[in-house]
Amino acid sequence: MVRPRHKIKEFELVLKEAERKGWRVTLGGNGHYKMYCPCPQKCKKTMPSTPSDPNCLKNLLGQLIRVTCW
Ligand SMILES: [Zn+2]
Repeated sequence: MVRPRHKIKEFELVLKEAERKGWRVTLGGNGHYKMYCPCPQKCKKTMPSTPSDPNCLKNLLGQLIRVTCW
């Protein structure tokens, strides 16, 4: 199944980076992308498809680094 592209370039780059690291990315019915880490702890992160907060990308990357094995 081909994942729909994120409409914001910077977010799409993060999803691509995740897939390159072996993460699985899906688009949920609620309009959020779900990112699943391949590790045994099964870290995961949700990414909004229409982020409202301009700091969203920065926060997301910070959380990925802090909370998952990104
Ligand atoms: Zn992980």
